Amino acid sequence: MLYQANKIAGYVQKNNFITDSSVSGTFLNEIDEKSTEISSRILVFDRNFMVIADSNKSEVGKTFVIPELLDAMNGSASANLRKDEGTIYASAYVDDETGAKTGAVLIVSSFTEFYGLLDTINHDWLIITALISILVAILNYISSGWFIKPLSSLVETIYRITDGNLSERFKVKGNDEIAVLGTAVNKMTDKLEQEDSSRSEFVSNVSHELKTPLSSIKVLSESILLQDGAPEEMYREFLQDINSEVDRMTNMINDLLSLVKLDSREVGLNLAETNLRKMLISIMKMLYPLAGEKDIELVLEADREVIILADETKLSLAVSNLIDNAIKYTPEGGVVKVTLENDSQNAYIAVIDSGIGISEEEQAKIFNRFYRVDKTRDRETGGTGLGLAITHQTVLNHGGSVKVISKEGSGATFIVRLPFDNREV
Ligand code: ADP
Repeated sequence: MLYQANKIAGYVQKNNFITDSSVSGTFLNEIDEKSTEISSRILVFDRNFMVIADSNKSEVGKTFVIPELLDAMNGSASANLRKDEGTIYASAYVDDETGAKTGAVLIVSSFTEFYGLLDTINHDWLIITALISILVAILNYISSGWFIKPLSSLVETIYRITDGNLSERFKVKGNDEIAVLGTAVNKMTDKLEQEDSSRSEFVSNVSHELKTPLSSIKVLSESILLQDGAPEEMYREFLQDINSEVDRMTNMINDLLSLVKLDSREVGLNLAETNLRKMLISIMKMLYPLAGEKDIELVLEADREVIILADETKLSLAVSNLIDNAIKYTPEGGVVKVTLENDSQNAYIAVIDSGIGISEEEQAKIFNRFYRVDKTRDRETGGTGLGLAITHQTVLNHGGSVKVISKEGSGATFIVRLPFDNREV
């Protein structure tokens, strides 16, 4: 109320409403409007306490000397509650440029109006609060739908996958965090499915590979049993065949056992400082007779001593598999060269042959278990199709890699990279 009184006083002073009677028409209108606006009676007094404007019109020309007006004329605005009348009085002075008081403004407002105003505010506030609460609830519902729904659907998918439904996938929508999580879960499931199918494939391959020599043994032994009085040479020949089939099976089982050991993380590598040059020399010594049988020239190019941390037994088997293959798949009179090099971080062993080579299409598959380019030929060479898988896994376990460069018909080069620092592996 005081604020309103002061505002009106300022307005009256600015427009010289008290001193300039020519503007009184506008002035009275303004006072009326303001009074309606603030729902209060407005009275303007001159310096003699005479009413010169009254929004109720009834008191114009009359003189009142009341405490609020005296206060105002003395230069201090004041406001009072008049409980008995049920009103509030608020006053403010009007002065001129010199600071002399030229009049005063009095606002009279009834409690009922005031409480009415409070009620309206309270009521409005209640509605606003209710509206905000409803809005917050709706937003909360929508946003939880956005977030919780896809999350619980993701959790359900994970449970279904855990129950063994490996073909199950999460339907990824948008690109928010849930979508990223869903994509990761899908990728993980792809991998699981792949592992699962390669495990079944492995088991079926093993059974198949063992069945073949077993059926040969069965056929051979039955033929002798069924033939009464067979000559001794026949017995000898059949038993030799049986013996070589048993050797094949033994080789395969040994290879399988090595692979299983390489796969299981518990059987770690027995790492020690290994002189690769010395290791290659002893592998070569072992394989010279094999190369000699096929009149193959076996060459080692290793000028430098290269020492790395490695499991020598396992690595030696891995590298001899490569040289063994190079001899096996190189026709008589060919050349097999083994080189040893290094840079600041890695040692490189290359096995280069002048043999039959491997087509690009086959190159991607030769490291798979039981994979053989030509099954019939390999039966003769006695391969199990596990050698390169063993080499690959061993080199991976040493933190390295195996690369093959070849063209069908013009030799093959296998390059093994072995890092010096494989402590992290
Ligand atoms: P295997 O016991 O049959 O030799 P590997 O796993 O060692 O099995 O090799 C897989 C296949 O890769 C072989 O059957 C052969 O077809 C091919 N291969 C491996 N090394 C060579 C090579 N140096 N030259 C040509 N083919 C090769």
